[in-house]
Amino acid sequence: MKPAAKHTTEREFGGTLGAVCIPVFLPLTVLFLIGASRTPSASPFQWPPPFPLVQHLWDPLALVLLLGWIGLHALLYLLPLGKMSEGLELKNKTRLKYPINGFHAMCISVALVLLLLKLGAPLGRLFELMQPLAVCAIVLSFLLSICLYARSFSVSSDALAPGGNTGNHLYDFFIGRELNPRIQDFDLKYFCELRPGLIGWVVINLGLLMKEVELQGSPSLAMILVNGFQLLYVGDALWNEEAVLSTMDIVHDGFGFMLVFGDLVWVPFTYSLQAAFLVVHPQSLSLFGAAVIVALNGIGYYIFRSSNSQKNQFRRNPNHPNVAKLKTIPTASGKKLLVSGWWGFVRHPNYLGDLLMALAWSLPCGFSNLLPYFYVIYFTILLIHREARDETQCKLKYGASWDSYCKQVPYRIFPFIY
Ligand code: NDP
Repeated sequence: MKPAAKHTTEREFGGTLGAVCIPVFLPLTVLFLIGASRTPSASPFQWPPPFPLVQHLWDPLALVLLLGWIGLHALLYLLPLGKMSEGLELKNKTRLKYPINGFHAMCISVALVLLLLKLGAPLGRLFELMQPLAVCAIVLSFLLSICLYARSFSVSSDALAPGGNTGNHLYDFFIGRELNPRIQDFDLKYFCELRPGLIGWVVINLGLLMKEVELQGSPSLAMILVNGFQLLYVGDALWNEEAVLSTMDIVHDGFGFMLVFGDLVWVPFTYSLQAAFLVVHPQSLSLFGAAVIVALNGIGYYIFRSSNSQKNQFRRNPNHPNVAKLKTIPTASGKKLLVSGWWGFVRHPNYLGDLLMALAWSLPCGFSNLLPYFYVIYFTILLIHREARDETQCKLKYGASWDSYCKQVPYRIFPFIY
């Protein structure tokens, strides 16, 4: 085993300061936002902040549910369903194998939840359990990140993430030191990326819908739209699970606090805020309003899906008839860059589609409160930051060819604006 040589790289997310502040600030933000979504003003600017009372933070049922949920998904991950796929080539020229069965896991777990509902399980209790569940997930994400950091010292330098081995303990713990931590064939990062948190988000949404049914007698149109849009988004991510193998998270980022917390806490507990808001702030939505919002979500989804598929198809087989006619520019690495089709429209058409959908998820919540718009505001900042990180990587990978691409496709995400 080669020793892990330290190397200094440019630090992201505010370096050491970010690595200290973000793990304190983000868990508090999650608890604050859940609390704020239940207040009459549902504003992210409230003083004193609506943090839950300490006695509302802990419920043993939450711990049992969380561990049971993760255990169920670990089991579904191991089931011999779906195909196995290879990831991109690693530094040591090998490729890891991944089971492509996330969509099966979603269908089985949603069927189990529906069965429980039929048997009378009070799914609406997830509304009251959201804060204790979030607390358990926060504690779990710290524990898992500490274990991951400790075990990263027992692997060879080849197994480390390019940016996670700076020698600064706080920063490396935060950004992730090991690239693909595995227990035998069980890939911890790949497992967390699209399963317990993402599918958990859909189940929390369903629980919030059931709470609304308890309170109002039937689900509102706004709640049905939010649930339907987000189910489509999660279903799409899992249907196209193989595409995650070439994303920045899998290929570049180590598995540290940033990703663990994002996957297990941030996604399920903040992406469900619109549904949580609707439980306490019922909205009446006209059929015309609903049709406009459905159309916006449809346009966003179309741009998001077709641009992601175009690039994935091109990367897998540049001679495929669907992409063979697109204009490209060569790069010194041998790979080509698309300069027509979606990737000639803006440099990140997939982010544009994602943001249009994010807006469509907030609109059913009306215009009188800011909190339901938290997601689209936060997501715009996240994707602008992510785009800048990706540009830095692409500039390093492709040098002058990347500059030429930027000249030919001048806008990053929003045509004629940014
Ligand atoms: P992208 O799918 O945007 O991939 C970026 C990579 O694509 C680049 O590094 C480069 O890699 C390749 N590329 C860039 N330009 C071109 C081009 N012109 N021609 C060919 N290849 C090109 O990465 P992300 O992981 O950021 O996003 C994946 C999806 O996930 C997006 O739809 C995004 O919106 C979504 N997402 C959702 C989040 C959420 O919380 N809901 C969070 C983050 C992302 P290479 O050349 O090496 O192939």
